[in-house]
Amino acid sequence: MAHELPALPYPFAALEPSIDAKTMEIHHDKPHAAYVANLNKALESAPAEANHPAEELIRYLDKLPDSIRTAVRNNGGGHVNHSFFWKLLKPGSDGKPVGKLAEAITATFGDVEQLKEKVNAAGVGRFGSGWAWLCVKDGKLEVCSTANQDNPTMGAAIAGCGGTPVLGIDVWEHAYYLHYQNRRPDYLKAIWSVINWAQAEENYLAALK
Ligand code: MN
Repeated sequence: MAHELPALPYPFAALEPSIDAKTMEIHHDKPHAAYVANLNKALESAPAEANHPAEELIRYLDKLPDSIRTAVRNNGGGHVNHSFFWKLLKPGSDGKPVGKLAEAITATFGDVEQLKEKVNAAGVGRFGSGWAWLCVKDGKLEVCSTANQDNPTMGAAIAGCGGTPVLGIDVWEHAYYLHYQNRRPDYLKAIWSVINWAQAEENYLAALK
């Protein structure tokens, strides 16, 4: 049972002007499609692992055969991260956090503006390619970042960033370069206009279980 590239839940142009249509088209159809194809290719040599959801493959990397561990870490991580990311965006954001997540953000960070500053600082501070995250760890909200396509659920495989993701922001150049060139901070500032806070709330409630 092969892993599949999920359709974007909105048209390529839906997130303009925060994220331009061409960037969305290339980002979904090229890098994300390649992560799915390369994950499937790696699993051809390990049929015993083929029926696990991608989220489980990356959570239990240490249980995989050595020969496919790095390929699953990079491509399974890429598949999981992007599938998560597309759902976290939407045209015409709800504007601000909702529900229990809104309460937790206020209690933890003071207000949503301070959360945004922390997430953006994590994204700007990531050298090279990676992700900025808001996670639930031990029942509490935490901001951190990972390199490459690492995901906080990879646990022991990665240092300094763990827990269950609530928000994940792609800071690879492929996520913003066409429109923002090298201006990662401008991209990070703009992306909050298209955050799907209802989805973030859903992620938060699931992470607390
Ligand atoms: Mn990406």
